[in-house]
Amino acid sequence: MPYTIKIDRTLCSGYGDCVGLAPDVFAHDEENISVVVDPEGAEDELILDAARACPVDAITLVDEHGDQVWP
Ligand code: SF4
Repeated sequence: MPYTIKIDRTLCSGYGDCVGLAPDVFAHDEENISVVVDPEGAEDELILDAARACPVDAITLVDEHGDQVWP
């Protein structure tokens, strides 16, 4: 079951860690802010790794039960 992925655009600084780890899930938009291109583009574990890698905790993950998984 894919996570619901939210990106806080006010926090994202475009470092690109998430894009580097899960390029089929995250991409940079024209403002160099991360956007979700496919929430099912990688296994949950890799998406969690990508969220954990974000230096400013801009990525929030919510599971299928509505529980926040990260941060
Ligand atoms: S790792 Fe965080 S700060 Fe960097 S692009 Fe992704 S969401 Fe933005």
